[in-house]
Amino acid sequence: MKQFLRNLQSLHIKLVIIYVLLIVIGMQIIGLYFTNTLERELTENFQDNIETQVDLIDTRIQELHTEYQDDLGTLSEEVQSLLSEFGNRPEIDEIRFINSDNILVATTRISNEPNIGSRINEPLTREAISTGSRNDEIFVNVNQDNQRTWLLNHPVVNNGQVLGAVYVSSNIETVYQQLEAINNTFIIATIISLIITSILGIFIARTITKPITDMRNQALMMSEGDYTSRVKIYSNDEIGELAGSFNILSKRVQEAQANTESERKRLDSVITNMSEGIIATDRKGRITVINEMALDMLNIPKDEDLHGKNMLKILRLDEEMTLEDIQEMNESQLLFTDSDYEAAIRANFSTIYKDTGFMNGYIAVLHDVTEQERIDNERREFVANVSHELRTPLTSMRSYIEALQEGAWQDDQLAPRFLSVTRDETDRMIRLVEDLLQLSRMDNEAEEINKEIVDFNMFLNRIIDRFEMTHKGEVEFIRNIPDTAMFSEIAMDKMSQVLDNVISNAIKYSNRENKRVEFHVKQNVLFNRMTIRIKDNGMGIPANKVDRIFERFYRVDKARARKKGGTGLGLAISKEIVEAHNGRIWANSLEGEGTTIFINLPCETLGEDGWDE
Ligand code: ADP
Repeated sequence: MKQFLRNLQSLHIKLVIIYVLLIVIGMQIIGLYFTNTLERELTENFQDNIETQVDLIDTRIQELHTEYQDDLGTLSEEVQSLLSEFGNRPEIDEIRFINSDNILVATTRISNEPNIGSRINEPLTREAISTGSRNDEIFVNVNQDNQRTWLLNHPVVNNGQVLGAVYVSSNIETVYQQLEAINNTFIIATIISLIITSILGIFIARTITKPITDMRNQALMMSEGDYTSRVKIYSNDEIGELAGSFNILSKRVQEAQANTESERKRLDSVITNMSEGIIATDRKGRITVINEMALDMLNIPKDEDLHGKNMLKILRLDEEMTLEDIQEMNESQLLFTDSDYEAAIRANFSTIYKDTGFMNGYIAVLHDVTEQERIDNERREFVANVSHELRTPLTSMRSYIEALQEGAWQDDQLAPRFLSVTRDETDRMIRLVEDLLQLSRMDNEAEEINKEIVDFNMFLNRIIDRFEMTHKGEVEFIRNIPDTAMFSEIAMDKMSQVLDNVISNAIKYSNRENKRVEFHVKQNVLFNRMTIRIKDNGMGIPANKVDRIFERFYRVDKARARKKGGTGLGLAISKEIVEAHNGRIWANSLEGEGTTIFINLPCETLGEDGWDE
């Protein structure tokens, strides 16, 4: 039923119905006018015909009346024969003549002849006689198969005197039968033309609706995202032009769609590959876009779907602020630190407005400021460390100087000792400041490094020789150094500073009687690298602190290291120098057993005939 109703609403059916209705209405109007005119013409013809006869009868009766005025019997007979003359026409039922006294004078109907001479009580005849004017009527004769009969009462007037009336009853049914036959022909013609126009209408409507249906289907396909198909152009009329324009439109939409798609892809790839995290939300703060970087920064697994989730909740800001705050703080920044994995993220929020001025959503750009924060922290720590390192010797110097001021200078035994402590502290401060200056120069890359190619084994042996001289009998130096030359491009002064530091640490941080420092040099010919291993049997470093000894001012045991005169910068400087040589330095240690320092540097091997790669 629904389908049927829908079909009725279709343009095709509508057009056919309109056609049919137009034809029906047209035929109706034509038919109505035509049958009316025809009916009038036919009945008028019929009546005129009879009236002409009646006029003749009228004239003849007047003549007869004048002629047989006195002889009523003959007059009656003459009138009777006159009427019979006219009465034998097939359409005429009866012709009567009634005189002015309403007496039937003559009749053509045999069955009515006995009534001749008697009074007739026909109201219309009587009216015609009394008024002297004709009247007529059509009535349906119930006795004769409902046939229509036309009654005419025609008064016969002679010199202003009504002589009587001619009464004619005629069968007008033939006229109506003719009319009916014509009507039937007309109805059949209408029906045939209706059938033909309906069939034609269906086809003609099809030619109109087919391209429209095609366009509708095409539009439906477009709404589902398929822009590839085109509408067939059937004709050059307006509908054909419309189909052409429709095709152009769908081509344009397809192009625009392709453009938008490629723009979207480009934007997608820009957002995906951005080094900043991006989160875009709708008006209610629900996430619509989030790139991998943002997930990474927030430590959220990549496969987790955050679409539709609350941005502030994801950023863990939902307790601190609301979306309205974002609108107000537009462009301002907010810093938060994730303590779980030590990351510092800075978020910049902005609000997106539509052209209409309505707010459309929010965008958060996340910057990883962990490194910046770390550097800031390090700087703060460094300043604190430097101040602390300077304060300690200064405080101790001050107390000694005060003691001297207060009279100790006169004490022969105390004064030299106090002065020597003060001098030691001053030396330490000078060393500290020098180390700091060197570090600062290296940080600014202002330190000049003059590299030259040296036989590293010989260079190392010389340094060990020097230590052997100064620590004779106190430390045992074991050398596992190849006899062959091993060439490396180094800045000798700087590298000896590194080795001095490492070796003196090996000696310094040992409480043993039989201190031992082992040297081991190994070359990796394949990679043109060498590794120097300096191993002691000292106190070692706790496993969790080994990696930190290269940090500035880091000391495993602060009091002890300071007592040993260390600034806590030696290994930090060594690390900088080794790295400036494209090398690497690291440590390995077992608490209580000893420490091994590894230095890996690039090297070349020089064969007998020259450079050997
Ligand atoms: P310092 O001037 O204090 O010696 P370094 O930078 O040379 O400073 O060393 C940093 C810290 O590393 C030292 O304070 C010490 O605690 C530890 N350290 C260095 N070398 C050794 C070693 N061979 N044995 C044990 N601890 C060491």
